[in-house]
Amino acid sequence: MSAVPTTAAPAAPGTLTAIATPQVNSATQGAPQAANGDTPPLDWESEIQLVSSLAKLQELERKIHELRQLVPGKLLEPLQSLTNPKWGPQGSSFADSPVQLREGLEQAARTQLANIENFKSMWQGPELQPVWAHVESRLKDSAGQIVQPTGMWERDYDVLLEELLKVERGKDEELLREDEEAERAKAQSSEGEWQGVVESFIQRNLPGVRVIKEQETLSLAIALVKAGVIFHVAGVKEPDAPGVADWHVSSRAPPGRVPTKLENSMTECLNSRPRKWDLAFLLDMISSYADLKQTSCVKCNKLTNNSAQLPTIRRAQSTQPSQGEPRTFAFDALHSSCV
Ligand SMILES: [Zn+2]
Repeated sequence: MSAVPTTAAPAAPGTLTAIATPQVNSATQGAPQAANGDTPPLDWESEIQLVSSLAKLQELERKIHELRQLVPGKLLEPLQSLTNPKWGPQGSSFADSPVQLREGLEQAARTQLANIENFKSMWQGPELQPVWAHVESRLKDSAGQIVQPTGMWERDYDVLLEELLKVERGKDEELLREDEEAERAKAQSSEGEWQGVVESFIQRNLPGVRVIKEQETLSLAIALVKAGVIFHVAGVKEPDAPGVADWHVSSRAPPGRVPTKLENSMTECLNSRPRKWDLAFLLDMISSYADLKQTSCVKCNKLTNNSAQLPTIRRAQSTQPSQGEPRTFAFDALHSSCV
């Protein structure tokens, strides 16, 4: 905690802690974003919004203190080398050369001016503009009467912000878990559910992907024509649910041939997927290998890595459309070395 300066450094629109002590509301919004592009108007009722703005102000004030300390000292540093050689360039003293001393002073002035310019653009930047506008409007509404309880920063707002964001993320993850649990329960509630999933997948008619139904119950094969790979998929049931609990994948090499390293690494990735109960997810994941030999890695943008390997890792994209029938999933391709 540091004291709030009574004389704020640059032309300050309002005092720094004028909007401190937010009411603790339940946060209704995610982390506020920079006000560039068409971001929605900020919600000043949101606790996270207030804390995030306070963290920015606190950082600004920390910078003011830093510059106050730093700038005068650094500006005069070349002069100090006159009496103390270790301050000069490469341990020598500027005293030997007035030209060097002048250059040293000029350079120091340019560097410190740049530091101040950086600070100014932070102060006037798009992230702080809405904060200043809010402070202004609060001051206007209260005719300048906003009580500052202590004149001190009550909290470290960057720490508080991180805590709040962690809680938010936890809530989001919990919701996702609940959603998936509901989906899983529905998929496992009836014996024939998976056949409907297969039918609607076949109807999508994805190029280079063929589904081969098998006589055996709870199993099917998917051929990726261009990639020259056939995957065998078998459902595993649990005793207490009529539907399938897990779909297990194996690659099916023609007789007399063992699966290649490439096939093995795809199979391994498929079997370590999330949503193991979800056949629709698995079929889309398998299909994402259809153009294996033309699909570049999303990380390095290359087709093969230094070990001449194709991107065999598939990761579900984080923004999946949660609605729509049939639900589809999109995947990113990655080299194992780029994960
Ligand atoms: Zn890569």
